[in-house]
Amino acid sequence: MSNLKDLSTKAAQCVKCGTCMANCPIYGETLSEVTTPRGKLSLIESLASGEIRLSKRLQDILFSCLACDTCGESCPNNVKVGEILLAARKELVNHRGLSPAKRLIFRHVLSSLRAMPLFLRAGSLLQGLFLKKIPQGSGLHLRFSLPFLNKKRLIPALAKNFFCDYQPLLAQAQPEKKRVGFFVGCVNNYLFPRIGDATVRLLNRNGVSLITPSDQNCCGLMAFGAGDWSSAQKCALANIAAFETYNLDTIITSCASCAATLKTFYPQMFKDADDKTQKRVNRFSSAIMDISQFLTQELDSPSALYKTLHQQEKLPRITYHDPCHLKRTLGISREPRELLQSLSHLEFVEMADASKCCGMGGTFTITHYDLSMNILNHKLDTLEAMDVDMLATGCSGCLLQFMDGIHQKGLKTKVVHLVEALEREEGSELDHR
Ligand code: SF4
Ligand code: SF4
Repeated sequence: MSNLKDLSTKAAQCVKCGTCMANCPIYGETLSEVTTPRGKLSLIESLASGEIRLSKRLQDILFSCLACDTCGESCPNNVKVGEILLAARKELVNHRGLSPAKRLIFRHVLSSLRAMPLFLRAGSLLQGLFLKKIPQGSGLHLRFSLPFLNKKRLIPALAKNFFCDYQPLLAQAQPEKKRVGFFVGCVNNYLFPRIGDATVRLLNRNGVSLITPSDQNCCGLMAFGAGDWSSAQKCALANIAAFETYNLDTIITSCASCAATLKTFYPQMFKDADDKTQKRVNRFSSAIMDISQFLTQELDSPSALYKTLHQQEKLPRITYHDPCHLKRTLGISREPRELLQSLSHLEFVEMADASKCCGMGGTFTITHYDLSMNILNHKLDTLEAMDVDMLATGCSGCLLQFMDGIHQKGLKTKVVHLVEALEREEGSELDHR
């Protein structure tokens, strides 16, 4: 348990002041000391010192966490709480193993270049057997309860055609000013190819050609967050191999969680690898840019992105939710706002607590659905009071979470990806609730 001892040394930097508790979304709902960041860090220390033993209860507590890193952000002692908790999950999995369901999904589907598309293609054909269309809605509900999916949940339909299947390897701009790689991400590939389409159109119109290797894999975040680093590493190596053939200096992604994984978590998960592997990982990770960062930093005039529309008397109002992986992991919050504020066809309105976690947390929303929705409901109350027409965000996970919550609460706000708001042309409909 030498790794656990290292983690314990890091956890011991926490002086248990409790400053971070006020902002922890889980503590805010449970009011249970053991779920606080300092509670979890204390348990890691006790485990390393042999005071307590590995148990299902301990595992449940360490997984009662959104990995949002709000605690790390608000810690005056700069304790890397998020990083410590994620590494502790890995130690738990190393010692207790994965559940059969997670083993099957992570080791044999998610990290397999062949199995994942095959599995989802079959799912796309058969989804009508398990799911029914919601009248006047843009999603599906389960026909019957399943142990791992709540029946109330809104489930977006799998796309008929997956983005990486129909998108050419090179979407060339005319004239071409720049050529960059495009990491699509599973949600955008299999559920919302329209986000990929909007990204391609937006960048092509601005002279940027996109290289989209079709043999790119899932980023691996779900496995990484669940402590299965070996499956996540397998995804990482497949992605690095898929892109390094093209020798690109910049690879963009329009999913904040993918961006955080490729840029920040890949170097973390290979920190003990050999020099050659570390170099490959670091070269790949340093090329990664979130789309909002790319648009504001790399294009000469971001405001030239948009078609100036006929000014209406009252513009539709749009607000923005900061994905945790974009704001806290990558430090990006100014760029999406700058882009939204420069639009001529929408009025940007700031939302209170815009960077508060939406409660998604990867598999957290599956394992703790009711708690996850309670956390989201605070944001939905704010949205309802603001009376905005649209909510934009830059993360596929947040999109899914808001679509579900907004549908269940019966709000009129439409949920869009940032690129869809930017790319919107006059007359196009944004009905993605
Ligand atoms: S990562 Fe988020 S949910 Fe987890 S302990 Fe920290 S603040 Fe709470
Ligand atoms: S993690 Fe930081 S803010 Fe939270 S209790 Fe420990 S020292 Fe205080």
